[in-house]
Amino acid sequence: AGQETDFKAGQKYARHIGAGEITGEARHRSIQHQRRSLPVFAVRQELLNVIRENSVVIIVGETGSGKTTQLTQYLSEDGYSRYGMIGCTQPRRVAAMSVAKRVSDEMATALGDKVGYAIRFEDCTSKDTIIKYMTDGILLRESLREGDLDRYSVIIMDEAHERSLSTDVLFGLLREVVARRHDLKLIVTSATMDCSKFSAFFGNAATFQIPGRTFPVEVMHAKNPVEDYVDAAVKQVMQIHLQPKSGDILVFMPGQEDIEVTCEVLKERLAEIESAPPLSILPIYSQLPSDLQAKIFQRSEGGLRKCVVATNIAETSLTVDGIVFVVDSGYCKLKVYNPRIGMDALQVYPVSRANADQRQGRAGRTGPGQCYRLYTRRQYLDELLSTGVPEIQRTNLANTVLLLKSLGVQDLLAFHFMDPPPQDNILNSLYQLWILGALDHTGRLTALGRQMAEFPLDPPQCQMLIVASQLNCTADILIIVSMLSVPSIFYRPKGREEDSDSAREKFQVPESDHLTYLNVYNQWKANGYSSSWCNDHFIHAKAMRKVREVRSQLEEILKQQKMDVVSCGTDWDIVRKCICSAYFHQAARLKGIGEYVNCRTGMPCHLHPTSALFGMGFTPDYVVYHELVMTAKEYMQCVTAVDGHWLAELGPMFFSVKETGRSGRAKRRQAMQHLHEMEHQMKEAEEEMKARAQE
Ligand code: ADP
Ligand code: MG
Repeated sequence: AGQETDFKAGQKYARHIGAGEITGEARHRSIQHQRRSLPVFAVRQELLNVIRENSVVIIVGETGSGKTTQLTQYLSEDGYSRYGMIGCTQPRRVAAMSVAKRVSDEMATALGDKVGYAIRFEDCTSKDTIIKYMTDGILLRESLREGDLDRYSVIIMDEAHERSLSTDVLFGLLREVVARRHDLKLIVTSATMDCSKFSAFFGNAATFQIPGRTFPVEVMHAKNPVEDYVDAAVKQVMQIHLQPKSGDILVFMPGQEDIEVTCEVLKERLAEIESAPPLSILPIYSQLPSDLQAKIFQRSEGGLRKCVVATNIAETSLTVDGIVFVVDSGYCKLKVYNPRIGMDALQVYPVSRANADQRQGRAGRTGPGQCYRLYTRRQYLDELLSTGVPEIQRTNLANTVLLLKSLGVQDLLAFHFMDPPPQDNILNSLYQLWILGALDHTGRLTALGRQMAEFPLDPPQCQMLIVASQLNCTADILIIVSMLSVPSIFYRPKGREEDSDSAREKFQVPESDHLTYLNVYNQWKANGYSSSWCNDHFIHAKAMRKVREVRSQLEEILKQQKMDVVSCGTDWDIVRKCICSAYFHQAARLKGIGEYVNCRTGMPCHLHPTSALFGMGFTPDYVVYHELVMTAKEYMQCVTAVDGHWLAELGPMFFSVKETGRSGRAKRRQAMQHLHEMEHQMKEAEEEMKARAQE
């Protein structure tokens, strides 16, 4: 009977995706045939034996060999799902969603039923879920609730070679969990051949190599260094496309903007050539809507040549079949802690040689291929690092530190990291958490810090919510925080820039971009959460629906924390005060005309032209900002005007403004004096904390 229902589900699905004449049964058969042709299928039993005999197994296999989509199913078929879920972590959200979709297809079940996924603010699983794909960040959060992860019988840490921050932290935690839970299987998978480090970390764990089959890839380097990689990539794709040799093309670009430009210019160039055969140009990056993401896997109509333009998501996480040509810009985007600005910045960096080799490999999966590198051989040999720097060694760790402290890890410098983060990173994060009041002077978690750890948000946003509950404006801050957690809600279509800009201006609250967001949401709500209202006002309806969902999830956590959800109505000064409380390191003081400097570091920063404060003819003395973006200049993104007095009043707990009965102006002057003192004290305290930690 089970099979019958499965079969029906498959049929329904086939119709749903408009598979045309292919019936559910035929589709199912073809998928099963595909499954059996994957390299991992040849070693299925051998692999299951190794897993049965060892509690930790490191599995290495070429990208596309079937690790991500097949292992979970094999384990489920072998009975492991009887004792708990089979969890599989991914460093990227797109991969978690896309792979879960594929596996639910293969098992002919609806997504979210037996096979599901979970990413931040989106849980697509049910009580029937036996195979769960999730981001590594999700599993890390789950370990906070349930230290031994008892709901799982197997955990697969996929894409371990990526060395993402959460995966690295999980390594340290899971090492202890497997020592305690003898019934848990831990599988670590990697696409790179060197797995000795992983094996050593888990006490010489068993390793298993999936025999690969790869074809030779001819590598071509640029003769001279390339100035504009987008332009060079377009030229290269055109050259490949206009020659007779068939096969799909995969282009690697660092990020969304470059991908969009590349796709656009490609279309323009193609249109200019009369006899050019049509080309199916498909972008893929994390913020792309998922229905468009799915297109890269579909066979193009009429057998057109496909050109997929991707971020490093297509390096090892997602496999597109049929790629014969790879064009590699040689760049990727990385989040790197920038000590000058005191926070992480997402910037474009050259890839490592290991990345370049992976990218090249994508051309040789189904037959011999060609890889065009848009950099010289010299650059490849002399300028690229041999492997990337693990995220844990290059980013801000405030979130991680907060989480580990909540898990009872007191001494972070003694935590078992595969590659420990530089001491400076840890200290910086400790300092940041201390400023927010999450840690006390001795580095212990405070009650506030404990509460912060409950929210799946960065510490400043947690702080905003907690202060809001003291100032009775949680409902308003909930909306603001939710708006900050989705990509831009404003829509600016080509050719209608002016219309969209003026629509946007109508929402602007002159002293705050945060309040502008609140305003947009409130108006949307007043209009019955309508999509057409969004369209009329150049606002992404889909993003707004996501905001609403995030809001309600955060509201649940507030309620669990016994915090009331109340609005302060139109008293927006209170809301600004809350915002102010969260952004101490991101406070800037006016210096000169329209120019600001960061209060702590003295680094110049500018109002972004899209800010509500820009060109309003008034420049407040103090502002706080959500983040800095570095383009031509350092721009503050999402800015709110604050009163200097608030900064002093809400500042680190060792400082408070003493209220005296004097006049307003004198009080103000005194507050300013205190503020300067505070800045000074903050610097000193930072030094002190560093010294203390080094003792
Ligand atoms: P690995 O994890 O070893 O890199 P995967 O399990 O991700 O390999 O992929 C195995 C194969 O599954 C791919 O070669 C591809 O043919 C197929 N596949 C994976 N995801 C999809 C998808 N979303 N749509 C169609 N085919 C897919
Ligand atoms: Mg994989």
